[in-house]
Amino acid sequence: MQNAIRVALVFGLWVSVFNTSPGGAQKMEPGKPIRVLVVTGGHDFEREPFFEMFRSFEGIVYEEIQHPNAHARLTPEGAKGYDVIVLYDMWQPISDESQEAFVKLLRQGKGLVALHHSLASYQTWEEYRNIIGGRWHMEKWTQNGKELPPSTFKHDVQFKVHIADSKHPVTRGLQDFDIRDETYGNFEVLPKVKPLLTTDEPTSNRVIAWAHTYGRSRVVYIQLGHDHYAYQNPNYRRLVLQAIRWVAGR
Ligand SMILES: [Zn+2]
Repeated sequence: MQNAIRVALVFGLWVSVFNTSPGGAQKMEPGKPIRVLVVTGGHDFEREPFFEMFRSFEGIVYEEIQHPNAHARLTPEGAKGYDVIVLYDMWQPISDESQEAFVKLLRQGKGLVALHHSLASYQTWEEYRNIIGGRWHMEKWTQNGKELPPSTFKHDVQFKVHIADSKHPVTRGLQDFDIRDETYGNFEVLPKVKPLLTTDEPTSNRVIAWAHTYGRSRVVYIQLGHDHYAYQNPNYRRLVLQAIRWVAGR
């Protein structure tokens, strides 16, 4: 999150990568691979290990779109070729038109997985909080009439993650695990969401992953995922893969 203010520095180029996990689609049970659009931009990250994680996923093909070109894809027409949108961006500017198109897309139904710093996108767009199910606040915020300080972050924390609901398709088969990752504190989580992961780590909110629906779309938010310590953690990989499958309806 230290680059929170560098939003405007990532411009220009957009890169489109099309990848199939090695032997993935062929080895899966019958059915087409899940087509994932990964949205990035506005926050640095370790690109190579991040996309290596996606290449390790069986039955997934992905394409990356970087801001400021992503909003053209986050529309009913622009997202037609994808089953799932994965947000790994932290972007602020969005036109009224792009807001409406994104909401329309989700009302119609499109799986959405939001990771890590995407919780801090679109600070001034009210509806984004309802889409994701929470918000990381850069400024003071209020809850139930009470003023709260800005949200926090801490890098390189070693902590324990608890499975809050082991029966949910996103967490099924997972057991409590350890991870080294960035924690976020004092962020907003809407009461309507279903908690999937919790932690007792004091620098973190208690609930750190959840599921809910927005319009006709399944939505999962996972706070974890700052760098390769997360990307290479087998529990994290399984979580992200199962989240993609669940929001895709597989
Ligand atoms: Zn981070």
